Amino acid sequence: MCPRCGAKGLWAGPAQFAEKCGNCSQELARHEPSGRLLYLAVLPVTVLLILAALKLDETLRPPLWLHALLWPPVVALAMIGTVRLAKAAALITRLRKETP
Ligand SMILES: [Zn+2]
Repeated sequence: MCPRCGAKGLWAGPAQFAEKCGNCSQELARHEPSGRLLYLAVLPVTVLLILAALKLDETLRPPLWLHALLWPPVVALAMIGTVRLAKAAALITRLRKETP
């Protein structure tokens, strides 16, 4: 949701901001964070996922095909969710700095 007016439409893609808010014209894409910040956010999640995979394998001993079936969507969802959270947090921080 738009951090300024609360209208929906912040996201143009799964993890990409829209150019502008359709409601209040707040520029969004301009504030899109890139590179290092996202990497820092994604890294701990990756570690957690690997640990979870090892733990699951240890306790349940699922067949290999189940791993192949289970992890791609889980990883994709976790990554998109993390990137969205990190981007939204960065956007809100930047907008607060600009408009005190
Ligand atoms: Zn808005």
